[in-house]
Amino acid sequence: MIDEKGILFILSGPSGVGKGTVRKSLFEKDTDLRYSISMTTRDPREGEVDGVDYFFKSKEEFETLIENKKLIEYAQYVGNYYGTPKDYVEQQLESGNDVFLEIEVQGALQVKENFPQGVFVFLIPPSLEELKDRIISRGTETEELVRNRLAAAKEEIEMMDYYDYVVVNDQIDRAVDTVQSIVRSEHCKRDRV
Ligand code: 5GP
Repeated sequence: MIDEKGILFILSGPSGVGKGTVRKSLFEKDTDLRYSISMTTRDPREGEVDGVDYFFKSKEEFETLIENKKLIEYAQYVGNYYGTPKDYVEQQLESGNDVFLEIEVQGALQVKENFPQGVFVFLIPPSLEELKDRIISRGTETEELVRNRLAAAKEEIEMMDYYDYVVVNDQIDRAVDTVQSIVRSEHCKRDRV
């Protein structure tokens, strides 16, 4: 009997490692996956669109979502709230669709409590030096924010042990292929079929 519920995939990794790029390329190849758009109180970066990249919320709006238990998980990251909408994820999984979250570690640990059957994937940079270069070259962050994001990255990398898979993002195409293989393999797991 095939399990008719979808599988929840969680992708984490330090800021700047290329999670967004990996996720976007993956979605070009695998159109069956559903991406859960997160809520955040951070300001949109240039080119980001509300309802596409994030649902941009005020702090008050976000705190109301927390109070009304509308989020599966939420975390504060470098001074802003980020969270995953509950209704969307639950509806998609119930309908048999796989859902993909791209979130930081504190949130992923909360997801693990409620969805232990989720598949947790951690993307790491080839080195911390490389990560620093990537955050700087993105050019969207002030010097202080780069420092804060690097400090957060070091803490995040220490949490890698909680994940099922670790993928090194040394070459984007290879990392995307690896994540896609993980998605495919998970459907073949004996306890899911
Ligand atoms: P950024 O500001 O660079 O878009 O995101 C900062 C961090 O927040 C990244 O590690 C990103 O993956 C994470 N993030 C994005 N959405 C969510 C979410 O819904 N929940 C949690 N916990 N983290 C998120």
